[in-house]
Amino acid sequence: MLRFAPSPTGDMHIGNLRVAIFNYIIAKQRNERYIVRIEDTDKERNIEGKDREILEILNLFGLEYDEVYYQSHNLTIHQHMAIKMLEERKAFACFCSAEELEAERETAKESKRAYRYSGKCELLSDEDVLTNEKPFTIRLKKPVSAIEFDDIIKGRLSFAPDDIDSFVIMRADKTPTYNFACAIDDMIHDISLVIRGEDHVSNTPKQIHIRKLLGYDKDIDYAHLPVILNEEGKKMSKRDSASSVRWLFEEGFIPEAIANYLILLGNKTPKEIFTLDEAIEWFRLENVSKAAAKFDLDKLRFINREHMKLMDSKDLSRAFGFADAAIGDLAKCFLEEGSTIKEIKPKIEAIFSAKSFDNEWGEQMKILQDAIKRAPGFDSFDEFKKYLTQQTGLKGKNFFKPLRLLLTGTDHGPELSHLYPYLKSYLLEIVK
Ligand code: GLU
Repeated sequence: MLRFAPSPTGDMHIGNLRVAIFNYIIAKQRNERYIVRIEDTDKERNIEGKDREILEILNLFGLEYDEVYYQSHNLTIHQHMAIKMLEERKAFACFCSAEELEAERETAKESKRAYRYSGKCELLSDEDVLTNEKPFTIRLKKPVSAIEFDDIIKGRLSFAPDDIDSFVIMRADKTPTYNFACAIDDMIHDISLVIRGEDHVSNTPKQIHIRKLLGYDKDIDYAHLPVILNEEGKKMSKRDSASSVRWLFEEGFIPEAIANYLILLGNKTPKEIFTLDEAIEWFRLENVSKAAAKFDLDKLRFINREHMKLMDSKDLSRAFGFADAAIGDLAKCFLEEGSTIKEIKPKIEAIFSAKSFDNEWGEQMKILQDAIKRAPGFDSFDEFKKYLTQQTGLKGKNFFKPLRLLLTGTDHGPELSHLYPYLKSYLLEIVK
């Protein structure tokens, strides 16, 4: 079973989306189930409605999943497991207050040491623990030897016990920490491979340690995806608008192109333009580069244009908010002038909006308007042109400039002969 485990704490980031896409592809390739697990145990950071937003985005990208779980529903399981760890003396109660721990952290920082828990509460006697009425957290004892695992992308990784440390698994409010809930849920859901962002790489030995102590001996494979850098080479953050999937939609990028781009990013692929279904045929995590990949908006624009070219005209029309396939074909004529829905839509709207005659060609536009209103339907642009020149006596620049303004609302753009086949059935509406 594969899983995508987003926290409902903010907008979907392209890094999260890439994780969702890769998990989906591998689930399809292996014919395994794919679940979404909403990691909502950190109540203070949860944002109402983000879970639904995440699921909607997955739907828009066609990333079908078998089931949705909410991590908070497993709370009693997490609590039982923590008590089991205490009973088996694999964990201990920690009464250190937040202030004490913060002071220790500060001291470590001042002496330029990495902070490690002092281990103080591990030494408390049962008596000390049972008579203490202060709130407490539960910490797992650190492992006695290094924890190692093979990462499909990064290779073999090893973490010393001190780097894993005696970390908190249950907060004082009796809710599990991310590592504890995640390690248990991956076990309960029988996850075979975890694909997630590189920011989680230091969590993995902790999660392996948790499951070992719980007696789970099945191996889970891991693939940690390198971070995505912005165009300046810094880790992409919320401040980079292009990191937000919602922003990309608002800018008029289509899901097919965004998915293509995220699969291509820092990867070896047999071709540059492809669909998700094609990627299922050849995608291999082993081909993903270890190095961080740089986000390139121009490349995404290029890919967006290529996907708009390939798109079925009816689907493309729908992306522009129209039902008729001709609008999709018309949009394709404008691909040299724009590469996103947002850039091309105003050009289509200009065709159908009321034209201004208040310009140097106004008089000729009026003459052409009258002629077009009276004209029979012509199949080809040549016949249409011939008829209009005969009727109006206009020719050359005096004919083409006003005709373009009348039909498209602007004085430049694709050849009128290219546009005509898609405009011809709307002529009366266009020159109204
Ligand atoms: N909830 C974590 C996050 O959104 C993901 C953890 C994971 O994939 O294990 O970063």
